[in-house]
Amino acid sequence: MTTVRTRFAPSPTGFMHLGNLRSALYTYLYAKRHGGSFILRIEDTDQSRYVEGAVDVIYNTLRDIGMQWDEGPDVGGDYGPYVQSQRKDMYLPYAKQLVEAGKAYYCFCTKEELDSRRGAAEAEGAVWKYDKHCASLSREEVQRRLAAGEPYVIRQNVPTAGEASFDDVIYGHIAVDCAELDDMILIKADGMPTYNFANVVDDHTMGITHVMRGNEYLASTPKYNLLYEAFGWEKPVYIHMTPIMRDAQHKLSKRDGDAYYEDYLSKGYLREAIVNYVALLGWNPGDEREFFTLEELTGVFDVDGMSKSPAIFDPVKLTWMNAEYVRRLSPEDFTAHAAPYYAQAGVASMDRDLLCRILQPRVEVFTQIPEMVDFLAKLPEYDAALFTNKKSKTNPEIAAQVLDLAIPALAALPAWTEEAVHDALLGLAQAQGMKNGTLLWPVRIALAGKAVTPGGAIEIAVLLGRDESLKRLKAGRAKV
Ligand code: GLU
Repeated sequence: MTTVRTRFAPSPTGFMHLGNLRSALYTYLYAKRHGGSFILRIEDTDQSRYVEGAVDVIYNTLRDIGMQWDEGPDVGGDYGPYVQSQRKDMYLPYAKQLVEAGKAYYCFCTKEELDSRRGAAEAEGAVWKYDKHCASLSREEVQRRLAAGEPYVIRQNVPTAGEASFDDVIYGHIAVDCAELDDMILIKADGMPTYNFANVVDDHTMGITHVMRGNEYLASTPKYNLLYEAFGWEKPVYIHMTPIMRDAQHKLSKRDGDAYYEDYLSKGYLREAIVNYVALLGWNPGDEREFFTLEELTGVFDVDGMSKSPAIFDPVKLTWMNAEYVRRLSPEDFTAHAAPYYAQAGVASMDRDLLCRILQPRVEVFTQIPEMVDFLAKLPEYDAALFTNKKSKTNPEIAAQVLDLAIPALAALPAWTEEAVHDALLGLAQAQGMKNGTLLWPVRIALAGKAVTPGGAIEIAVLLGRDESLKRLKAGRAKV
């Protein structure tokens, strides 16, 4: 049995779209699941679309997630180089081989000639495709024009009749009439291969057994297959992935603000949660399980769990999943992730264990932290009406009474610990025959200046420290 060899073949044209990430992930998982090799190939033939730094984004993202490639630009391998621009001299001989076999031909048509014939065709309402003008040039004429140094391209010689087809694992049998296919350019006037030609030659020469990629390549694959047949090469297994949709009608497009992996990281999502969620966009394990580490995915992923219908990207579900991952973090890891947001909110010097205890159960994404804790850094403006709460049976008069008792009791504490503040406040409630809530509500409002806070009065008092707490309690007292 041949060993499985899959490849992720990104074009370095920008950041990592969630669709790219999913292609990389499935490609990696399939190889690992079948004990095969995962190859990284950079497809940079189209230099006009090259974006500086994009290759680093690809490397860093894959490494960060833990999808280490077995062969690729920097790690090497037996089939290198793994960057197309470094392979540029490899393609012309293959194109010439096709010319010899009559499956491709030199084309000397100039841009002006093409434009004028296209214009004429379009004037008659026809859809233009290359008219095989140069396919019938005699061998002698071709030799003469090549020797004269005339610029040329090499085109694929698509049969004029019959069907080009292939079988896709997800989409089934796909066939197109050859009559609809253009004689696509394989080698450009500058001697460089076109993207389509390089992709096929590389997949073959790198021994790729399974081609996994987005369904935007479904339409080109019949043409690719004609090339395989023309060369007499064994075809890879094709696995095209269904699209990721924003809603029932629209693909999640690169223009959507929420389409990039990096954006989710900067929005405070955890890498593991994003990867887990993306894995489920178009694949399921066949049972109810939803939580998987990358390692676990390599044990269960397979094409039979891949969906035949488009996946809908649901940001709410991603956020839910992220919240679950946040809750499963160790306190140390939670704090490490939260630290930049503590600094941003001005609470970096406060008790981290306590912050973790009140925030970890509530945070869905880390960027929510600043607005959850901003009241700790600065007491917000608030209205005395906040002291009124039906359920806790308080109002401004009761608040005045409570604060008059709480301020001296807390000021007299020998130590400012959670236990001491707790005992002092609850002891007061008991002595006054008050419900705990009636006492704690006004204290918390005076400490926080807002009705909804992570943590209760005692935790907030401990985070603020004695001086700040007493200052805020007195300010609250002055309001009622
Ligand atoms: N280079 C292509 C892209 O980035 C992928 C082509 C393929 O996987 O065959 O979209």
